[in-house]
Amino acid sequence: MPALLALALAGCAANPPARELAMPRTYAHGIGGATFLIGGTFVPGRSPDGNSLILYGPEGAFLIDSGRHADHLTAIRQGFSGIGMTPMAIVNTHWHLDHASGNPALKAEHPGIKVYGTSAIDAALTGFLANSAEASRKALAEGAIPASAVPDVEGDLATIARGAELRPDVTVREGGDLVIAGRPLSLRVANHAVTESDLWIYDAAEKRAIVGDLVTMPVPFLDTACPEGWLAALDAVAASGTEQVVPGHGPILTMAEFGAWKSAFGDFIACARGTGALETCSAGWLTGAKPFLMGDKRAKGMADYYGELIRSGKLDGYCRA
Ligand SMILES: [Zn+2]
Repeated sequence: MPALLALALAGCAANPPARELAMPRTYAHGIGGATFLIGGTFVPGRSPDGNSLILYGPEGAFLIDSGRHADHLTAIRQGFSGIGMTPMAIVNTHWHLDHASGNPALKAEHPGIKVYGTSAIDAALTGFLANSAEASRKALAEGAIPASAVPDVEGDLATIARGAELRPDVTVREGGDLVIAGRPLSLRVANHAVTESDLWIYDAAEKRAIVGDLVTMPVPFLDTACPEGWLAALDAVAASGTEQVVPGHGPILTMAEFGAWKSAFGDFIACARGTGALETCSAGWLTGAKPFLMGDKRAKGMADYYGELIRSGKLDGYCRA
């Protein structure tokens, strides 16, 4: 999730204590198939880290998404040292700062790393991220940011200042099969979904789809999304033959769970695109996505925010080619 919503959330007075959130573990744990998950956290008052994964093959190990905060990066480093390997590549599902901020530090530590990603970061650097940085600097200058959120905002500003270093070494345009670290994978491109162009990874050997923010909890993070393109990308995931889905935020889903999340997402978009009261849309999300809210009491406020964002038409530009 980008910085601006994080600011809005940081201002919420009713943040629940952390113990109420059933958050995934942050340290790397094996999920089968030479794959480790480093669960992202979303602590009240702070901005989130996306999930990261470490995969290894006969020729080495690589990372999918590099998180935002220093403690998440520490967990990634511990994951690699735990298997006695160093990262030789990073695959970024998308450019959001909770998925790509660790890139520069890891590349500095391991100069051989090649980053795979789409070119969507280019437009984001001069558009969304530049605007976000300007708004953040203004809010900081005006003292409008709660003290607890200032380190996150300053961290994002530092990352945006080095934004060019988030750009991929290998730009993925079409997707397709490739081999990283001796391990065959299929990279799938979803255009006009969470961002202008997202990647998701299908690991056919494990029948596992690693989908980045095409699935997020406790709500879909729609800040830079084309809602209809996102829905089409979920259809592609459903048709891939996968037997499990690793979201960008939240625990691993069975296909029945993925179907329920997708259905709640589709209903939320249709409702927000309609003309009825927006509260109905949030209420529908809270009911349909109940198993995925993880007890997070922020879900309603966030669903209200994103429903309004869809209804306002502000996201429609993300649907244009
Ligand atoms: Zn994310």
